[in-house]
Amino acid sequence: MAEQVLVTGANGFIVSHSIAQLLAEGKQVIGTVRNPDDPVRTAHLRALPRAETGLRMVAADLMSKDPFSDFLDVDFVLHMASPYVLTVKDPQRDLVDPAVQGTLSLLRAAARSSRIKRVVLTSSMAAITDEPDGRVLTESDWNDKSSLTRNAYYFSKTMAERAAWEFMAREKPGFDLVVINPFMVIGPSLSAEINTSNQILVDVTAGVYPAILALEWGFVDVRDVANAHVRALAAPNAQGRYICAAANRNMAHLVSLLAKAGAPQAKLPKLDLSGGFGTGLMTLMSYAQPAGVGSYLRTHLGRVPRFDNTKIQRDLGIGFRDVDQTIIDTVHDLIRHGHLKSI
Ligand code: NAP
Repeated sequence: MAEQVLVTGANGFIVSHSIAQLLAEGKQVIGTVRNPDDPVRTAHLRALPRAETGLRMVAADLMSKDPFSDFLDVDFVLHMASPYVLTVKDPQRDLVDPAVQGTLSLLRAAARSSRIKRVVLTSSMAAITDEPDGRVLTESDWNDKSSLTRNAYYFSKTMAERAAWEFMAREKPGFDLVVINPFMVIGPSLSAEINTSNQILVDVTAGVYPAILALEWGFVDVRDVANAHVRALAAPNAQGRYICAAANRNMAHLVSLLAKAGAPQAKLPKLDLSGGFGTGLMTLMSYAQPAGVGSYLRTHLGRVPRFDNTKIQRDLGIGFRDVDQTIIDTVHDLIRHGHLKSI
């Protein structure tokens, strides 16, 4: 009998690619979405090869009481649903509660099923650090600085991952937990919707950034992140956390590549404020930004995230695509979906 996998947040940017891979491997997938009857959010999943026979979509909201119990007669779980937004009205209600409660609801229900072998949880680099300090980050680093008023999204991911490991230590359920910690995920989207990380490329192109800033990201291709999750479900030696990032690119490089890849150039930032003076100026200006953006700028301007990605390559046997090619692929895909005009 084909192995069965429960996947939460099935319509999401990353997980849609994982579902495509699981279906291609012949798995039976139950995908939770908030509303299975919403054609905008589910059509791309129904169109996947083998979806008709291999994918069942069911309704689950992270904030409901016990949302997952009915769907846990499965072999594996991939828990990816979590709000990924930087600006919210109420960080506790809109970010932390769904991230933590959703994770705990899932684990509690999974612990009652004797069939589940492994839960793979999507955490984030947000749970590793919210203020890179030049050290090489490894899986033993934890973000202990975020709060409801400082990088609240990072706080939600840290709290959710901590809650998961605490649950495992306390309850000792019959399955094991593997956690993936992706950095900035970009790449082609299977749906026409745009998620928060690809939106950054649109924002840079649309003039949201007034200048080239001293920002640098650890990028990773969505197809590689999706693959890492699928491999983590079954890799016999997988254990613990996995930094999932390919390589860094700074904003100046990103801007030049956006132009080369065919993004509209009119509003691409030209003024270079990536030096010491510009960073000081932008740090002052960050206080005029919405809270989420402001605290992100204050903790990331002038800071280079360095990381060790050897564990994921060794244990899960994955390689990473070239980041420049991923940026180019993303631009082409954003044009295809109408999020960017072609020049
Ligand atoms: P996404 O497309 O926004 O996916 C988020 C998913 O979570 C969506 O399916 C969303 O459903 C679901 N969700 C949010 N709140 C929910 C709720 N209350 N109940 C049920 N479902 C809810 O973003 P993504 O980039 O693919 O992110 C997926 C996961 O990867 C998240 O856990 C995120 O924290 C993590 N991650 C992302 C990145 C990145 O750079 N993209 C990096 C590291 C980690 P709706 O569509 O209904 O809102």
